[in-house]
Amino acid sequence: MGTGRLTIDLDAVVANWRALDGMTACKTAAVVKADGYGLGAANVAKALFKAGVRQFFVAVAEEAVPIRAELGEKPDISVFSGHMKGDTDLIRELNLTPMLNSVDQLTHHFEVLPGHRFGVQLDTGMNRLGMELQEWAAVAELALAQHPTLVMSHLACADEPDHPMNPYQLDNFKKMTDGISAPRSLAATGGILLGPDYHFDLTRPGIGLYGGMPFEQAVATIELDLPVIQVRDVAAGEVVGYANSWQADRPSKVATVSGGYADGIFRTLSDKATLYHGQQPCPVIGRVSMDLLTVDVTDLGDIPSKLTLIGPQQTVDDLARAAKTIGYEVLTQLGGRYNRKTFGK
Ligand SMILES: *Cc1c(COP(=O)(O)O)cnc(C)c1O
Repeated sequence: MGTGRLTIDLDAVVANWRALDGMTACKTAAVVKADGYGLGAANVAKALFKAGVRQFFVAVAEEAVPIRAELGEKPDISVFSGHMKGDTDLIRELNLTPMLNSVDQLTHHFEVLPGHRFGVQLDTGMNRLGMELQEWAAVAELALAQHPTLVMSHLACADEPDHPMNPYQLDNFKKMTDGISAPRSLAATGGILLGPDYHFDLTRPGIGLYGGMPFEQAVATIELDLPVIQVRDVAAGEVVGYANSWQADRPSKVATVSGGYADGIFRTLSDKATLYHGQQPCPVIGRVSMDLLTVDVTDLGDIPSKLTLIGPQQTVDDLARAAKTIGYEVLTQLGGRYNRKTFGK
C-alpha cells in the first residue's frame, strides 16, 4: 500500500463527548463541520447519535447532506452560516435549522420559509457572525415570538481562561438574552472549560471531541502511519531533497516516506517534524515535498515498513506546534488519499 494509513477511533470521539457532557449540567451538542474536523462527518455523527447526541452543528447547509442521509429525520442539524440565499430548498428539504445572523437573514427566512425552525446568532464582541446589540434590539420581540430553537453567541478567546474578553462577552450575552424563554448557548470546547457561568442550556464542542486542545484530558482519536517506500545510504557531505536543504554530516541512512504537503503535512514542517518507530524519534530532513518526506533513520536498527507521524509519541497538537499552527488545522487538512480505517460504533 503506497498511501498513509489513517486510523480513526470513534469510541474515543464518543468518550470525549461523554467527558465534556459530564462537565456540565446542560445539554451537549456536537459540532461536525469541516467533515467532522477531518475525521468523517457521517461516521462521527452516527457514533455520537448512538451515544445520545440529538443536536449537530455544521458551518454551511451543504455539510448537512451526508449527516441527514446517515441519521434520517431525528436529530436537529443547525447551520452556523444561517439562511444564505440559495439555501432555501436545502433548508426546507432536509429540515435544517439556520442560525440567523442578521436582520436580512431573519427577514428573508420569515418571508420564504414561514413557520420553519430557526435559531439566532448574536455577536457579543468577536465581530464575525451574528446580530449586534442594536439589530437584536430591533427584531428580538418579533424573532422570539416565533420561538427560535436556540439563541447563541461564540467566544473569541475561550482557550485563554484568564482573558478579559471572556467575562466581557459573557456580560454582553446576558444583557442581550436574560429573561428570554428560548434556550441559550455560548460555549464551544473552550467555553465548557471556563465553568458553569458559560454553559447556559446547550454547549457546542467541536475540537474537544476530536482530541484537540484546549481539552487537555481528551483521548486521542487518530493515528497516522506513513509507509517507507525506499531506504538509501547517504555519504557524509551528500545532500537530500529539493534545494539541497539538508547535508549529511555523517554516513547516514535516509528513508523516503509516502506523505507530503498534498496530504496535509505542511511544508513548514520541513526539517522540523519527527516521525516515530515505536518510541524512537526519526527526524524529517530536508523539504517536505508534495507526496514525500525524507527521514533520517541512521539510528534505527531494522528499517520498519512504516513510520508514525501522529500517535502516542506525537499528538495532533504536538505536530501543530512544530508547524506553528493549531490542532484544528492539522485535523481539517488530513489528506484525502490516506487509507482510512474507522473503528468503533
Ligand atoms: C467551530 C465552532 C464551534 C466549535 O468550536 P470548538 O472550539 O471546535 O469546540 C462552536 N461554535 C461555533 C459558532 C463554531 O464556529
